Amino acid sequence: MNFYILTLFPDMVRDGLNTSILARAAASGLIGIEAVNIRDYTNNRHGRVDDYTYGGGAGLLMQAQPVYDAWRSVQDRLPKKTRVVYMTPQGEVFSQAKAQELSKEENLILLCGHYEGIDERVIEEIVTDEISVGDYVLTGGELPAMIVVDAVSRLIPGVLGNGASSHTDSFQDGLLEYPQYSRPEVWQGKKVPEVLLSGDHAKVDAWRKEQALKRTMERRPDLYRRYQEQLLANQAAVW
Ligand code: SAM
Repeated sequence: MNFYILTLFPDMVRDGLNTSILARAAASGLIGIEAVNIRDYTNNRHGRVDDYTYGGGAGLLMQAQPVYDAWRSVQDRLPKKTRVVYMTPQGEVFSQAKAQELSKEENLILLCGHYEGIDERVIEEIVTDEISVGDYVLTGGELPAMIVVDAVSRLIPGVLGNGASSHTDSFQDGLLEYPQYSRPEVWQGKKVPEVLLSGDHAKVDAWRKEQALKRTMERRPDLYRRYQEQLLANQAAVW
């Protein structure tokens, strides 16, 4: 899967994503990450990409022309019309379900705003999805875009190395993940739960499920409610 990130700060995106699992995935060709500098596409002879907003108010707005031309430079190279995700606090709040949906795409264009944001007309013209990473405002869309690239990439087969590990992650089945332990068996007087040392896989699975339910109920009652509702709906469908 290829990610094309339209940004005024390509180094930030490249540096942020060129580490650890994602760097290895890129090196082995499982993902491609291209940061496109919007400034390279401005028609302004001084290299400007922003201007004051009509109607007044503090701050500068990214102009439509360079954003549109940067997008065209990518879209024109792709075989079909590609989804364009604008990172914005006004978008749908990002979730594992959205990450899964996006991981089915072959190519994805991510658009990062900065300053006061982007001229609404180019958003209307090219954007297909709007994603927020939460109800707070950041200085730019680069960190949110990196979050999306990371969450989507780890769902692509082969990226994690051990394909099974994303299946047990929090949210994959609607629950938070169970607690986990590694060596030594006793640390600071705290012992690893006995069942995990038993070698009895059925018992381990049952314990993990129980812990995942308990944790979700305590920490995320909203998720727990939804999980129970889904369970009831599935049972009703079977009857
Ligand atoms: N004036 C805009 C508003 O109130 O909706 C906020 C602009 S923000 C300072 C600049 C850019 O940062 C946005 O265009 C967007 O790309 C990005 N951004 C800020 N907060 C974000 C969030 N929670 N999720 C996704 N992107 C965000």
